[in-house]
Amino acid sequence: MRVAMIGTGYVGLVSGTCFSEFGHTVICVDKNPDRISALQRGEIPIFEPGLEDLVDRNVKAGRLSFTQDIKAAVDGADAVFIAVGTPSRRGDGEADLSYVYAAAKEIAQAMNGFTLVVTKSTVPVGTGREVERIIRETRPDADFEVASNPEFLREGAAIEDFMRPDRVVCGAQSERSREILRNLYRPLYLNETPILFTELETAELIKYAANAFLAMKITFINEVADLCERVKVNVQDVARGIGLDGRIGSKFLHAGPGYGGSCFPKDTLALVATGRKYQAPLRIIETVIDINDRRKRHMADKIIGACGDSVAGKTVAVLGLTFKPETDDMRDSPSLDIVPTLQAAGATVRAYDPEGIPEAKKLLKDVVWCSDAYDAANGADALAILTEWNQFRALDLRRLKTLLKQPLMVDLRNIYKPAEMQQAGFTYHSIGRPVVAPKASG
Ligand code: NAD
Repeated sequence: MRVAMIGTGYVGLVSGTCFSEFGHTVICVDKNPDRISALQRGEIPIFEPGLEDLVDRNVKAGRLSFTQDIKAAVDGADAVFIAVGTPSRRGDGEADLSYVYAAAKEIAQAMNGFTLVVTKSTVPVGTGREVERIIRETRPDADFEVASNPEFLREGAAIEDFMRPDRVVCGAQSERSREILRNLYRPLYLNETPILFTELETAELIKYAANAFLAMKITFINEVADLCERVKVNVQDVARGIGLDGRIGSKFLHAGPGYGGSCFPKDTLALVATGRKYQAPLRIIETVIDINDRRKRHMADKIIGACGDSVAGKTVAVLGLTFKPETDDMRDSPSLDIVPTLQAAGATVRAYDPEGIPEAKKLLKDVVWCSDAYDAANGADALAILTEWNQFRALDLRRLKTLLKQPLMVDLRNIYKPAEMQQAGFTYHSIGRPVVAPKASG
């Protein structure tokens, strides 16, 4: 099949590339000229493991190409996917749909012959109908249908998620549309991936309900972690004890500094806005948002507390800035709250992230950028782990001890074991677990 993918961000580029890997002919479009020139030169503008090889292979096979010319991509396509951003609108938290609607208009002007227009972007209930209205208004003669195919991939594991998803959700309006979507996802039928066909609006809501539920699950274990600290219980034991219950499940029960990233913060806000609009308030999600916002700020206080209630004139080494490992995405990362709060309290921050520094430089000021974890620790009064990159999981603790002014670590991702850190001579603070200090010798 011929596919046009509008938007080459984390979702558009991965989805377009994976569709070409399935054997379809895919043209990816972006209005950002730098992005398209980079892709045409064979450079990948985002960090996503495995993507470069997959793009290269499919470009060489002639199934994948990149253009700024939407007409060239859409003209003759069987399916056109909209994968543009839907950020939070300032002020009211509603999803900003201006990019989606602008794309719909441009698609309408370019389409030729029957075209299935599919929203892959995360969009509120009713957006698909509005896309349909815009296309109809722009091109009354057009032969098209609109479908919704929300994307569930996770950055950092995006290719695996697209190729082996838990499910594919398709909101489609006719057998003709369903058949096109079935053909597009045919390789997934072979491994028996559940493909759920629904109404347009149902598919739109499934995506928000899924993300809100996951944000709630993280927030739940974060609050339990706070209680664990008070009652001297290890939250990881509690998480295991409840996670083995099949009704609860063990995933998304890792206590940490609060969720961030390009999806949960904006999607929870947008779902709450939809609830208000239809007089069906989602009070539980409103609370989740509030708790999570406070938590990110509270994490800086935790680091300050570990430093003896003041970081004035002190240096804090920060390891990890992205909202999670294996991505360069800094959107709504907890580090964006934590680092400025530490600086406002008088700390100098020395920071290192394996992939996030170019993006972080645009968002954080007055940080001493470091070349690795040991460079960051050099001369610092404390070391804080904000993101659980694999390379931070097995640091040379002896070396760290010689570099730090004092052996103090605040691990907001629980990647070390308290007993191990005590053994290594560190004062060690983590999330939802007792603080340990080095054993007095002699
Ligand atoms: P992104 O910001 O990384 O990329 C969006 C791209 O669209 C940009 O490159 C932009 O230049 C381009 N664009 C905007 N308007 C355009 C137009 N009219 N024509 C051509 N290109 C245009 O966004 P993203 O992270 O890929 O997210 C896209 C959508 O997918 C959002 O709705 C998001 O909520 C959803 N989503 C994201 C993820 C994720 O992990 N990032 C996961 C699932 C769903």
